Amino acid sequence: MTEPGDLVQGWFAVSAPEEGVFTIEEPLHEEQVKSYLVVGSERAILIDTGMGVGDIRTLVADLTDRPVTVVNSHAHWDHIGGNGLFAEILIHPSEADVLRRGVPNARLRPNFTPDRLLGPLPTGFDPATAAFPPTPPTGLLHGGETLDLGGRSLEVIHAPGHSPGGIVLLDREGRTLFSTDVAYPGALYCLAPDADLGTYRETMMRLATLARDVDRAYPAHNASPMDPALLPLMRDALEAVEEGRAPDAMDGDVLIHRFDGFSVWLTPDKLGREA
Ligand SMILES: [Zn+2]
Ligand SMILES: [Zn+2]
Repeated sequence: MTEPGDLVQGWFAVSAPEEGVFTIEEPLHEEQVKSYLVVGSERAILIDTGMGVGDIRTLVADLTDRPVTVVNSHAHWDHIGGNGLFAEILIHPSEADVLRRGVPNARLRPNFTPDRLLGPLPTGFDPATAAFPPTPPTGLLHGGETLDLGGRSLEVIHAPGHSPGGIVLLDREGRTLFSTDVAYPGALYCLAPDADLGTYRETMMRLATLARDVDRAYPAHNASPMDPALLPLMRDALEAVEEGRAPDAMDGDVLIHRFDGFSVWLTPDKLGREA
């Protein structure tokens, strides 16, 4: 494990898995959140802004002198924490209102209890008072857009299911998929009130067809990069769950389906059943 002393601002771990891509990890929290900075010759895209611990803008400014646009892959709290530090923020319209509202302390505080942390929080972040201010988006991404960074471009793909406005970003020429919270090697959640299993399966059917077009996927949680060969397996898994596969375990009223390299967590209402 990374020692706290090696971390940027006592919180972030930064690596450069390939030219023009930086992985910004938050290894001291069990969620193992990852944001990605993608740098072109003209501008840079920051895919998500993390948990709001530390100053991700200062970190990013040390990595690139290009103008930075934030693209939120979706509006779950663990990926929008640093939004307030940036001027330009893009998101899918169906989650824009979450940014406009901000996130109150009561929503954040339970996520920073000692049992969820793998090391000390840096000074300057206090879970007792932390809250995310409203950060109205400065632009909307519907899917289908191409973001030109200069020498590198990212195609925006609307990928709902985990959340209604989820997006993934494809660098077709670079054979790279930023798979965000839609596909990562861990517990795939179909839990939020606005998550939808059938929609998630349809999204994964489309992403599975990209598996042969990319050499690596960069997920928003857990080990990164991820083998794109997992994408068709995730498609098959969601299909099996939707078709009535028996869960392997339960955690409260959450049904847990285990597969090789990932799992699917959902509430019974996603299958049209009572909890
Ligand atoms: Zn999420
Ligand atoms: Zn997440």
